[in-house]
Amino acid sequence: MEPPSQVSFQEKKRVIQKQEVEATIYMNFMKSHCCYDAIPTSCKLVIFDTKLQVKKAFFGLVVNGLRAAPLWDNKLQRFVGMLTITDFINILHCYYRSPMVQMYELENHKIETWRDVYLQCSNHFLISISPEASLFDAIYSLLKYKIHRLPVIDPVSGNVLHILTHKRILKFLHIFWKKIPKPSFIGKQIQELGIGTFRNIATVQQTATLYDALSIFVERRVSALPVLDEKGKVVSLYSRFDVINLAAQKTYNNLDVTMQEAIRRRVCFVEGVIKCYPDETLETIIDRIVKAEVHRLVLVDRTNIVKGIVSLSDLLQAMVLAPAGIDALLS
Ligand code: ADP
Ligand code: ADP
Ligand code: AMP
Repeated sequence: MEPPSQVSFQEKKRVIQKQEVEATIYMNFMKSHCCYDAIPTSCKLVIFDTKLQVKKAFFGLVVNGLRAAPLWDNKLQRFVGMLTITDFINILHCYYRSPMVQMYELENHKIETWRDVYLQCSNHFLISISPEASLFDAIYSLLKYKIHRLPVIDPVSGNVLHILTHKRILKFLHIFWKKIPKPSFIGKQIQELGIGTFRNIATVQQTATLYDALSIFVERRVSALPVLDEKGKVVSLYSRFDVINLAAQKTYNNLDVTMQEAIRRRVCFVEGVIKCYPDETLETIIDRIVKAEVHRLVLVDRTNIVKGIVSLSDLLQAMVLAPAGIDALLS
C-alpha cells in the first residue's frame, strides 16, 4: 500500500494534468478547424470599387443589409481594405458641424479620397486570411489587429469567399458544443474567471448628444456604449452597428439629437439590454450571447449599475488564445 502523502501527490498531479488538458480543448478545436469550415453554404457579399462615392457605398450596405464590404482598387487590381460602419462613424465625426451645414465631404468624397485622408493615421493594408488557415489564426488576427471583419480570400483565384467575424466563429463552436468534452472551468462564475473588461467602461448618458456618442466611439475605439439614465443605471445599449440607421433613415445631418431620441428612432431587433451578472457561469454567458446574436453582454450588479463588458473578443481571448500563452487584447 502507498503511503497517504504519496497518494495525495499522485491525485494532485492527476488533477493538474486534467486541468491542463481541459484548458486546451477550445484552442485545439480552433486549431483543428479551418476558416473554410466556418463559412456558410450561402451568403451575400458586396464589393465596392474605391472610385465609388462614400455616400453611395454606405447606402449600398444598407439596402443589402450588410455591415461591411471589401474594397477593390481597379488600378492596382487587388483588394486594398474594408469599408465598415466604423468608417461611416469616422466620416461623420470628422465632417459634422451642425444641422444647418451640409457635410460636403460625405456628399462628394469617393472612397479613395476618404482613404487618403484617413489612412494617414490607420492601417494601410488589408488584413485577410486563407480558407485553409485555422480558425485559431483567424481569431488571432481579429483580436491582434482589433478589427471585426476578416475577409477569407482564396489564394488561387483571389476571390473573397466570406467575411469572418467573432460571432460566426463562436457560433461555429457552439454548433459542436454538445460533441466536445465540457471543461470544468465553464461551470465557474465569470467574476472568478475574470473574463471581460471591468474598469474604465465607456458609457454615454441618455441626455448626451449622438455626436457625443460618436466622439466616444472614435476616441475610445469601443464597439458599443451602455446608455445610462440620470441615476447611472443602464437603460439601453448603442452599438457601432446602430449608426448605420442614420444612413438608412437619412438623418445623419442632425447629430445634435439626444441619445434618448436616437435610440427611439433606431430600428433595432434586440429588445432591452442583454446583460449578465458577475455570479453567472461562463456556460450561461456563452449560451446567452450566442442565442441573442450580439457581440457583447453588459455586466451589471442587481441594481443595474454597469460593472463591465463581456465581449466576444474577451471570450475568444480567454478560451482560445490564453491557453496558447497569447494575450492579443493587450494594446
Ligand atoms: P466595425 O466594428 O464597424 O465593423 P471594424 O472594427 O472591423 O469595424 O473596423 C475598424 C477599422 O478597421 C475600419 O476603419 C475598417 O475599415 C478597418 N478594417 C476592418 N477590417 C479590416 C481588414 N480586414 N483589413 C484592414 N482594415 C480593416
Ligand atoms: P455586429 O454584428 O456589428 O457585431 P452588434 O452585436 O454590436 O453588431 O449589434 C447588433 C444589434 O444588437 C444592434 O442593434 C445593437 O444595439 C444590439 N445589441 C448588441 N449588443 C447588445 C446588448 N448587449 N444588449 C442589447 N442590444 C444589443
Ligand atoms: P470588442 O471591440 O467589443 O470586440 O472588444 C474589445 C475589448 O474592448 C474587449 O476587451 C471588451 O471588453 C472591451 N470593450 C468593449 N466595449 C467596451 C466599453 N464600452 N468600455 C470599455 N471596454 C469595452
